[in-house]
Amino acid sequence: FFYGQSPPVYPSPPMPGSASWATAYAKAVALVSQMTLEEKANITVGYTPLTGCSGETGSVPRLNWPGLCLSDAGNGLRATDFVNGWPSGIHVGAAWNKNLAYQRGLHMGGEFKTKGVHVALGPVVGPLGRVAESGRNWEGISNDPYLCGALAAETVQGIQGAGVTTSVKHYIGNEQETNRNPDGDVASVSSNIDDKTLHELYLWPFADAVHAGAGSIMCSYNRLNNSYSCQNSKLLNGILKTELGFEGFVVSDWGAQHTGLDSALAGLDVVMPDSTYWGVNGGNLTIAVNNGSLASARVTDMATRLVASWYQMGQDIDFPEGGIGMPINYYTPHKPVYARDPSSQSVLLDGALEGHVLVKNVNNALPLKSPKLLSVFGYDAVAPQKFDVGGPTDIIAPWTFGAESLSYTPFISSEPAPQIAINGTIISGGGSGANAPAYISAPIDALKEQAYLDGTSLFWDFYDNDPIIDTSSDACLVFINAFATEGNDRLGLHDDYSDALIQNVAANCSNTIVTIHNAGIRLVEQWIDHPNITAVIFAHLPGQDSGRALVQLLYGVQSFSGKLPYTVAKNESDYTNAGKPSLPEGDYQLFPQEDFSEGVYIDYRDFDAKNITPRYEFGFGLTYTTFSYSDLTIEKLAGASTSYLPPAAETIIEGGIASLWDVIAQVTATITNTGSVDAAEIAQLYVGIPGGPVKQLRGFSKVDIPVGANVTVEFDLQRRDLSEWSVTDQSWVLQSGSYPIYVGASSRDLPLVGSLSI
Ligand code: BGC
Repeated sequence: FFYGQSPPVYPSPPMPGSASWATAYAKAVALVSQMTLEEKANITVGYTPLTGCSGETGSVPRLNWPGLCLSDAGNGLRATDFVNGWPSGIHVGAAWNKNLAYQRGLHMGGEFKTKGVHVALGPVVGPLGRVAESGRNWEGISNDPYLCGALAAETVQGIQGAGVTTSVKHYIGNEQETNRNPDGDVASVSSNIDDKTLHELYLWPFADAVHAGAGSIMCSYNRLNNSYSCQNSKLLNGILKTELGFEGFVVSDWGAQHTGLDSALAGLDVVMPDSTYWGVNGGNLTIAVNNGSLASARVTDMATRLVASWYQMGQDIDFPEGGIGMPINYYTPHKPVYARDPSSQSVLLDGALEGHVLVKNVNNALPLKSPKLLSVFGYDAVAPQKFDVGGPTDIIAPWTFGAESLSYTPFISSEPAPQIAINGTIISGGGSGANAPAYISAPIDALKEQAYLDGTSLFWDFYDNDPIIDTSSDACLVFINAFATEGNDRLGLHDDYSDALIQNVAANCSNTIVTIHNAGIRLVEQWIDHPNITAVIFAHLPGQDSGRALVQLLYGVQSFSGKLPYTVAKNESDYTNAGKPSLPEGDYQLFPQEDFSEGVYIDYRDFDAKNITPRYEFGFGLTYTTFSYSDLTIEKLAGASTSYLPPAAETIIEGGIASLWDVIAQVTATITNTGSVDAAEIAQLYVGIPGGPVKQLRGFSKVDIPVGANVTVEFDLQRRDLSEWSVTDQSWVLQSGSYPIYVGASSRDLPLVGSLSI
């Protein structure tokens, strides 16, 4: 097939119903067999919701099948009250903590369940983060597929552990917001991704999510190789339902269906929020079956996959009424349903703490030690002035711009894609991934509490960008943000207003400490080398305990333990392949094309290949102590050989052929805390797969290490971790040769080097 074209793959494989899904499958088959064709068709389409759910499927009251409530999003339940505002995906990525990702999922999932939400519309693993300016990168976890996939799998298990199906999104190639949807005669952008790149980069975290048992996948708005994702038979029938052995149902992104019969044949199972193509009650599917254009088995399979997810999550037993406590209009009187569980408190706080990344700390600026006078500057230090949760179809996060706030913010370069949220601190980005938190602990709130305890005086100015400075300040804390939202890509990776604010403070304050709440990559070149800028923190999007967590870190109650889940370049142009979203051009105005011709060379893979020195490399982060690395061991286990079975002869389990998950090598290393503060380290393992990037992340382990102690970390390398995707064999293959193995503290601080020969 030619580049940028998608081959046909038909027919659509029925749900396998194997292994852990066997019981749910059998129950679903039994229930669906009692449904009429009309009833089956009816449950595949969305209805105008009667609740605040983002979408609701049809129901079969005769058989006591309730229909499902699907709601956003990956960072907390949207459009309702009495829920928590959780750390965003990028914050989970910066924490590099598998168990924490699982706990976050479990606790967040519990809130969805309490409100009768059957399907949580997340986590996000696409966008992966190819385009540095992309508006939704913050909803995802990391632009490294291994880190993203590992933490997404934990999230899936956590949320589903609470009895709520995850709909992992957006499948696939949804790497920019610009032209994500058709606009008049202009079609959605086509992400043109070759087979090898698709497997090794963009599909990888989806495969992890499927392997973790994800009950749903959401197909995306864009086209993939010129075929809309929700009618792309290669993607749905071929890769997802055959190669990855997916057991769940495919749901369209809201309005992402563009054909009737074609999407049904290509493997789409459920359409949201309604379907002009499949018709009211799915009536056109019934017509298509009756006139012989669609096999009735396909409609039965759609219904079976949907109903099986319900059984698989145990939703047939004691599940709350769909969308309970979630009125369509939040401000109308309604029965309160309290979804916040007291036991979530520590998970929210740990989640907030661990995604902060300290990148600069000189002159012992941090931790702060009972300062006499702290000066606090910047629009991002305070909570937004208006708490507005909006309605379910037009959700407005509390920090989203209202018309009034824009009127006094002339420095925001242009609507509707502001670069900063001038009216207050951000704890998530904007759009469907934002929810209404229970409260916001803004930086100044927590600083005041600490000042009370320490007898510290505070001086502040959150308004001026060239503030007056009391020169007896022990430190000047400056707070800025980098905002991003669904629906728009960012206008750049830094903004002049915030850079000027920092420079102005630094000009007059010899101990200037910068905190950035960043919904994506934020460049720092304008001021990073200023001698008065003594500490810099990428605080990401911590959720509602933002300020509380930050202050514990600033004062050393907790040690920093996050690392960057992306590369911070010196210049935007250093993201050489795709800093900016692509626009419709030339002959392809009506059918915008974006060739992913860089292959897997995004972010650090690209910086390594081109020898570009970043400001802060992928995986970098400081803390209050130092660590040393020693004693690398590499052991090859049985199965580490190049012989493999053709895929057809292999057992397919969820995620792909079973042997991909076999551990074929083990690596250990010892890490010693050589400083004077207890802290956690994130040890990282990179492999140089022959013929590929010089190194790719293939293991990480976050461990608490007390002062003077050492810990041995162990990395299990699975067959997939060391394989490349062979386009000819249509399978993952090991190569015979020597694989360099690196272990260390970041992608460019790798003191332990060895090799594995296969
Ligand atoms: C977004 C999805 C979201 C859906 C439902 C779409 O516009 O792309 O991520 O789940 O709306 O709100």
